[in-house]
Amino acid sequence: MRLLSATGKHITIVLMQMKISNEGGKSNPESKSDPFIRQNVLMSAHTSLGTGGFADWAAWPSTSEQLREAMEFAHSRNVPVTYVGGGTNILVSDKGIRGLVIFSDHLTSCHSRGRLFCTQSGLSLDNAINTSIEMGLTGLELLGGLPGTVGGAIAGNAGIKEMTISDVLLYIDYMTPDGALHRMQNTGETFAYHHSSFPGDEQCFIIEAGFILNPTRKMAEARLKKEEALRRRTEHGHYRYPSAGCTFRNPVEGSAGRIIDNLGLKGKTVGGAQVSFSHANFIINPEGKATSSDIFELSRLIHETVFKETGIDLQREVRLIGDWDICNTKA
Ligand SMILES: Cc1cc2nc3c(=O)[nH]c(=O)nc-3n(C[C@H](O)[C@H](O)[C@H](O)COP(=O)(O)OP(=O)(O)OC[C@H]3O[C@@H](n4cnc5c(N)ncnc54)[C@H](O)[C@@H]3O)c2cc1C
Repeated sequence: MRLLSATGKHITIVLMQMKISNEGGKSNPESKSDPFIRQNVLMSAHTSLGTGGFADWAAWPSTSEQLREAMEFAHSRNVPVTYVGGGTNILVSDKGIRGLVIFSDHLTSCHSRGRLFCTQSGLSLDNAINTSIEMGLTGLELLGGLPGTVGGAIAGNAGIKEMTISDVLLYIDYMTPDGALHRMQNTGETFAYHHSSFPGDEQCFIIEAGFILNPTRKMAEARLKKEEALRRRTEHGHYRYPSAGCTFRNPVEGSAGRIIDNLGLKGKTVGGAQVSFSHANFIINPEGKATSSDIFELSRLIHETVFKETGIDLQREVRLIGDWDICNTKA
């Protein structure tokens, strides 16, 4: 793209735009002619734990216009709206979700301009990292292998010990339930450990995010760094069984996994759910037979045991979504 600069000279801006497909083959609409809003959608097909009942309605918008239509659809029926990305950090009730679920995974365009890498929220974080490297930009590689979408990562400020996604985030474009579009610059105050509080928090759907990255010609080195992050996760057994990652946030006393492990809870089961042998803070669904209630009950048992034995009040990291009995949801 050639633009006239403030000094009257022509400058060339390299703008690379791509539409990328997330892998996965889930039961969502695949072509533009498919209706993008569907009734009675089984959520277990859309969560990494493989559990959860039916959502009354689900929408897969591919454009801001369709997203606005989905918001209007819910508003006109006076039903609640729930947002889901990759479903890798949520526990959906076996009773399902009342109202409309809006999935982000058809919003996958991205482009770069100079140091700025802009991506829609539904692109998987792993795909976003690969694409940014191919565009000659680095800075996200340490998050390699982190499951889920860019939007989900921002909503929970996902990350590892060395970095969180907000470290390189410049702005978020989001839509409020009235269909209005907004931009929020990242001032650093919105994000904390595994937490974000952008305006309206869960009322807002993140559409796009902009990251400030570093230009590089050493793309092979960046690819290697990203693959190394993925390899470490594989070695630690992250992908061996269905899970939603860490069940609890790390308390000030240290690693939640170590605390749970020290109490001998690895391998503990409730129904089909089990405390992982590789990572005590992961609850897994090893044979695909667990219900969300099994997983919830096991998390409650862990919480009770840790509190009784150490006095530490672990806080849940995995988000409970859908029709849970509110009085019963304390971890
Ligand atoms: C094996 C494994 C390892 C993991 N390791 C890590 C790790 O190292 N560090 C870490 O932080 N997490 C980790 N996780 C948890 C999870 O991968 C991350 O939290 C991820 O960023 C969630 O993204 P998602 O798209 O799946 O979000 P979802 O699970 O779909 O949603 C999570 C929350 O984000 C909200 N949300 C999603 N998309 C949007 C949107 N577009 N707009 C507004 N709100 C939205 C949802 O409403 C929900 O409240 C791990 C999970 C697994 C299964």
